[in-house]
Amino acid sequence: MPSNQQQNSSSRELLYSTPGMPAFDGDGVKMTRIIGTAQLNMLDPFLLLDAFESDEPQDYIGGFPDHPHRGFETVTYMLEGRMRHKDSMGSEGVISANGVQWMTAGKGIVHSEMPDQESGLLKGFQLWVNLASKDKMCEPSYQEFDAQDIAVEMRTDGGQTRVIAGATNGGTTGPVRRDDIKPIYMHINLPAGGEFKQNIKAGDNAFIYVIEGDLLVGVEARSLAPKQLGVLGEGDEVMVAAGNSASEFLLVAATPINESVARGGPFVMNTKAEVLQAFEDFQNNRF
Ligand code: MN
Repeated sequence: MPSNQQQNSSSRELLYSTPGMPAFDGDGVKMTRIIGTAQLNMLDPFLLLDAFESDEPQDYIGGFPDHPHRGFETVTYMLEGRMRHKDSMGSEGVISANGVQWMTAGKGIVHSEMPDQESGLLKGFQLWVNLASKDKMCEPSYQEFDAQDIAVEMRTDGGQTRVIAGATNGGTTGPVRRDDIKPIYMHINLPAGGEFKQNIKAGDNAFIYVIEGDLLVGVEARSLAPKQLGVLGEGDEVMVAAGNSASEFLLVAATPINESVARGGPFVMNTKAEVLQAFEDFQNNRF
């Protein structure tokens, strides 16, 4: 549609970066907590991001035995290895390399997340995405996709974009839907010198996590090192380029919910009273 009010797009620049903090969770699983730390408590609607990567079984073999969640979503994306989940509603499955489980815990779920391997590399991420107040007590549900069900866009420069959620500028759309916050979750590989550009709605919060290789972010081309999360500033698109070596990264964005957040371990509600209610409901087997 023609418009005489065309505006130039504005580039999102790298605001700041964080490497996260070494952490243990579950039954002694070694990980890096990247969102959910003193440095980056949250990036609305993202409450937590954990990265785990080890080929030492003692770092992951304990897994995450039965534990509850209420009030938000857990998104597990595997790069290497296999994670088996089992929940209180009788659902069970395995997430393997480049597969995703986008779980809406809603009013409450008890589940276990255990490595489905006794040796070898286990590598992946878990992201927590908040639910709006009106959705916190919804019925639990899953959006679960194996690697072959995730859209992959191949680019002429040899790079590729795996689209879990959102749509690329080229129109490739991921299978995960969440209509209120319209998330983007993309896993991008760039060859040395390769470039990538993505529209991100103005006002949405966005970050990049570099898995491998240096990345130059924005028109300012600020450098973001491997295993660093970079928070992006305002704008309606982001452009990034790989340096002298190939680069691999996650691009994640969504519309902020802008509500009060009360956290209590595995429960994330709007008020402290609601968190206490969650503990009481869990202790009384009301999940
Ligand atoms: Mn869990």
